[in-house]
Amino acid sequence: GGLDELDTHLTRCRACPRLVAWREEVAATRRRAFRDEEYWARPVPGFGPPDAALAVVGLAPAAHGGNRTGRMFTGDASGDFLFAALHAVGLASQPEATHRGDGLELYGVRVTAPVHCAPPQNKPTPTERDTCRPWLSAELALLAPSLRAAVALGAFSWQALLPALGSAGWRVPRPRPAFGHGAQLTLQATDERPELRILGSYHPSQQNTFTGRLTFAMLVDVLTRAAELAGL
Ligand code: SF4
Repeated sequence: GGLDELDTHLTRCRACPRLVAWREEVAATRRRAFRDEEYWARPVPGFGPPDAALAVVGLAPAAHGGNRTGRMFTGDASGDFLFAALHAVGLASQPEATHRGDGLELYGVRVTAPVHCAPPQNKPTPTERDTCRPWLSAELALLAPSLRAAVALGAFSWQALLPALGSAGWRVPRPRPAFGHGAQLTLQATDERPELRILGSYHPSQQNTFTGRLTFAMLVDVLTRAAELAGL
């Protein structure tokens, strides 16, 4: 099956008891601003075309962002920052992402995460990260024919992405190269697919964007480089 089929299976996953409980509890209590909304409260699939050349990999859906809207990075501050940057680079049809029916299209980019359910405090456990890895591996394997580059947003993403790529048919060096903003890595495939370029960027969380650790220009810079490496 293709990505649509994978996403359908994913949205039924209940493998992590703590995250299943949390995503439903958040939906039951809601936030005042969203009290009239029906929360998604399920695993959030990746978003973007099935023949993407670039994967942008975050951490996990936000409780009142992706867990509410059902689309990665949609409806929270991190996503506002990321989609505005993707739009600035010409990879998104509009700078805003508010809900699944907002008309946003990504050009050659798939936005996804190594953990597909919202975790408390945005902190998945190592077990939850490992339990969710096969979903990311399967997604990357389906994208493999077109995939040329990936951006890992933050150290958690970097550390989860590399083994997922290993399971999806790329050779990952050991010891694993360390994460850094601007870190770059080239992976060869175990078959005849072309090499894959990996870039690290700080995650566009408010913790990083409010403090200026990650500025808009810094993210645009990494995404511009990634787009070039991906041939976009
Ligand atoms: Fe399933 Fe991943 Fe959600 Fe865990 S985090 S329940 S493995 S989709």
